[in-house]
Amino acid sequence: MKRTLLVALGIGVFAGTHASVTAVGQIGGINKGLSIAKKANDVRELSMTDAEEQALGANVSEKIRTRYGVVQDASVHRYVSLVGMALAAGSTRPGLPWTFIVLDTDGVNAFAAPGGYVHITRGALALMKSEAELAGVLGHEIVHITEKHTVRAIQKNQAVQMGAAETLSGSAALMDRVVAAVYDNIVERGFGRAEENESDEHGVILANKTGYAPNGLNGFLTTLKNRNKESKEKRGLFASHPEMDDRLNRITKLIAAKKLAATATLEARYTKNISYKPVDLTAIAVVEPGAAGLTGGGAKPEEKKAEAKKEEPKKRGFGGLGNMLKGGGGETKQAQVSASGGARGVDPEKDSKGGPNPKPVPVKVLATELAAFKKEGGLS
Ligand SMILES: [Zn+2]
Repeated sequence: MKRTLLVALGIGVFAGTHASVTAVGQIGGINKGLSIAKKANDVRELSMTDAEEQALGANVSEKIRTRYGVVQDASVHRYVSLVGMALAAGSTRPGLPWTFIVLDTDGVNAFAAPGGYVHITRGALALMKSEAELAGVLGHEIVHITEKHTVRAIQKNQAVQMGAAETLSGSAALMDRVVAAVYDNIVERGFGRAEENESDEHGVILANKTGYAPNGLNGFLTTLKNRNKESKEKRGLFASHPEMDDRLNRITKLIAAKKLAATATLEARYTKNISYKPVDLTAIAVVEPGAAGLTGGGAKPEEKKAEAKKEEPKKRGFGGLGNMLKGGGGETKQAQVSASGGARGVDPEKDSKGGPNPKPVPVKVLATELAAFKKEGGLS
């Protein structure tokens, strides 16, 4: 049974609110066509302005930072932010308050929260060999945000439909529900395949446009694939999952078809700025799955499990980065866990133990600094 958190309201109230929602949509100039109610007369799909999207993203980011902790190193944040800002400036939403956060965990992952919040783990940085690989991953995450993949996913989530009189900025209760749903969507479930493919394609094009060799994402994904293949622990269907090869092939074909030919790889600049060492999958300290939700005040584990079972097997499991690599394997794993009765469905990349300090490390990147950084690297 679906959790229903809807506020039932009369038709008359709805009609009045509908008009004002449409006006808000016009003023905000976003979510064209998405703010229109399609369901019953007493509820409507979640709509949000740019400001609400950013407030939502800030809240979700806080939850992610609380779960994994933040690397308290300004120079690492500055470097990742420079690469991220160089990419974001060429994206379709350059004006968002782009924020790049390095999470303090050995698990390999990256998470994009709405409104411009890109998170990447210390473990992911440790696996990368060049700035072009970092640009490939950041480009992918940036596209999840510019294409509003999360916003659209939760708009389809019946648990977070809004009552006719509610707005995200006007209802703390609604904001709480949406933050919990978005966190769950980003960290625990991940996006569908279509969104992942779109992020791969646009992200690779964005990296190339910025001057980075376009095969950076493939380089990183190949390392990640081998890391899992070599792991002694047999992790479901992961090791040789065809979806990963399909993904790599798609990107390779795209690079050829679009004749993407930028050349900057910048290994030396990368290793000068990033010196983390990767931790083997079997050596990563983990926490109980669902602990994240508890810490961050999200859905209770029982609820999460019940909801996860309802997901269509092929639609999910393409998740953040680690999740995404599993292809459809995420569901298979879930099923296996349920079937074996009590076995812990731990995914070291996602369930990795986080650091103690959630405090953001703010970085101010001046236009002149960004220009100098691009020039030094031979970027466009
Ligand atoms: Zn993704």
